[in-house]
Amino acid sequence: MDPLETAKIKLIMELRHQGITDAVVLKAIENTPREEFLPAALRMQAYDNQPLPIGCDQTISQPYIVAFMTQHLKLDRSMVVLEIGTGSGYQAAVLSRLCRRVYTIERHRPLMREAQARFQAQGLHNITTRVGDGYKGWPEAAPFDRIVVTAAAPEPPEALIAQLAVGGFMLIPVGPQWQGQQIQRITRTETGIETEDLLPVRFVPMLPGVERAAGNNGTGDGG
Ligand code: SAH
Repeated sequence: MDPLETAKIKLIMELRHQGITDAVVLKAIENTPREEFLPAALRMQAYDNQPLPIGCDQTISQPYIVAFMTQHLKLDRSMVVLEIGTGSGYQAAVLSRLCRRVYTIERHRPLMREAQARFQAQGLHNITTRVGDGYKGWPEAAPFDRIVVTAAAPEPPEALIAQLAVGGFMLIPVGPQWQGQQIQRITRTETGIETEDLLPVRFVPMLPGVERAAGNNGTGDGG
């Protein structure tokens, strides 16, 4: 058997032991080829349960964290989701199998180019992308049933909370850069918000603005 297929089956079993019991979520992970979201040299590690480098000093999240967030999003086919931090595009690809549409924002243009090529190659046509600053959200497409942030913010951005539908919620790692972060669930209620801690984590930081490093001749937000 293909060694990647064997590794994938092992990973799915491991995720189940770690508490990812939603069969629909596990199926979406099984159907998303993580190796396609990695630099060629790292493909054989695609089903190790660990984060891996994807360039621009960023990482693809650990499969357990992707699975945890996806399970906690409690998606259905009718929902519109905003993701901040496209990165490799892997989390967006998993989500796109479970909801109506994913809007996803990334501040590194080169990462977004690669992610878009993957979405297209894999026939994932319900993902809409933008190079921009996730702190601003995507007001024209709001309100969102769910928002998922895959980089850690010092505190939950007000603009994102404002773009949640009433009754909807956001999952976001909150905390300082190198100390304890928590994935928080922030629910927008009729009267305000409710915040709960779900899981201690360590994410790369959510940074302001669009990255304009070498190789990125970005022309500004939007796209
Ligand atoms: N969801 C990704 C994980 C990427 S790591 C995956 O599945 O591969 C987090 C990503 O968030 C990085 O690519 C980083 O560039 C991006 N990011 C950080 N701050 C951001 C911001 N303000 N707006 C948009 N993207 C941001």
